[in-house]
Amino acid sequence: MSAPMDSVRHDWQRAEIEALFALPFNDLLFQAASVHRQHFDANAVQVSTLLSIKTGACPEDCKYCSQSGHYNTELEKEKLLEVQKVLEEARAAKEKGASRFCMGAAWRSPRDKDMPYVLDMVRQVKAMGLETCMTLGMLTDEQAGELAEAGLDYYNHNLDTSPEYYSQIISTRTYNDRLDTLAHVRDAGIKVCAGGIIGMGEDRNDRIGLLQQLANLPAHPESVPINMLVKIKGTPLAEVDDLDPFEFVRTVAVARILMPESYVRLSAGRQEMNDQTQALCFMAGANSIFYGERLLTTDNPETNADRVLFQRLGLHALDPRQECSDEATEGALLDTVAARENPASGLYYDAMGKRPAKDVLKKRATEH
Ligand code: SF4
Repeated sequence: MSAPMDSVRHDWQRAEIEALFALPFNDLLFQAASVHRQHFDANAVQVSTLLSIKTGACPEDCKYCSQSGHYNTELEKEKLLEVQKVLEEARAAKEKGASRFCMGAAWRSPRDKDMPYVLDMVRQVKAMGLETCMTLGMLTDEQAGELAEAGLDYYNHNLDTSPEYYSQIISTRTYNDRLDTLAHVRDAGIKVCAGGIIGMGEDRNDRIGLLQQLANLPAHPESVPINMLVKIKGTPLAEVDDLDPFEFVRTVAVARILMPESYVRLSAGRQEMNDQTQALCFMAGANSIFYGERLLTTDNPETNADRVLFQRLGLHALDPRQECSDEATEGALLDTVAARENPASGLYYDAMGKRPAKDVLKKRATEH
């Protein structure tokens, strides 16, 4: 069975997703790479940097997490960082080439007294010319509205796994709580970053279930992090069996096919992947990474190692100055589209390395 390659669907059936996973590896990668090239510049990778703004002592019991107060992981706890400290880190990230700055706090949900600090961080990081992303736990619709008003671009809230496997991983919040937060974020007009974690002892049915949930949301998350479990000593998942790296690549490929216009992000677990596995993930349609030496509290490949890998693979980071995401920049975007015209393929890409909507392409075509 082959998926339609040029449509964005929200009605994926389990059997269709199963069939994609079951394809011979090369066929699956070819299909995913073809979908990727229809919608993006296949050699452009969006780069984000992530900072933990409040670390550890989280009341939730996510079985994979070093920050949960339920497990003894010897993690050093930190209170909410001062706004100035966050701004210094954001400046450094920008200098290293990040276009988006993600700030994460180990909370069940933000308290009212935390909100003014968090909103201030959003305003000031945004004023530096960086896109902003936060992950603060569950949000009410009021909190989502406040973050939107402060100018937050993205909110991260993962579904983690399938609804069926979920109770094996977390007991302190429900799957529906997560879906509610995603709905509040979407309704507030903030872009959604939502994905999951692979290799937590789930089986392929659960990976299918997770991707089906994400792909059948009313709008696809703009960003879909696919994490490989990082086994943390002291957590209940510390000794779980390793996942076959090809199954991870398959999961990335299927995510790319199901959500063709989303940025599929290689997130936690890159440190444990060799360069070949990462290269296969890029080929399968991953086009976003976290860049920086720490990914919340787990190691991330050193920034220099990423630079070398990008050079070896001929990949380039999206230019933060070019990266644009709102209607107001359409004029500039169209100019960049024209500049990037590739006469050999007839393809156009916009400033985000993304294939513009058909009406934009049509407009360009009639102008030439
Ligand atoms: S994943 Fe988030 S909510 Fe869960 S324990 Fe860790 S910090 Fe808390």
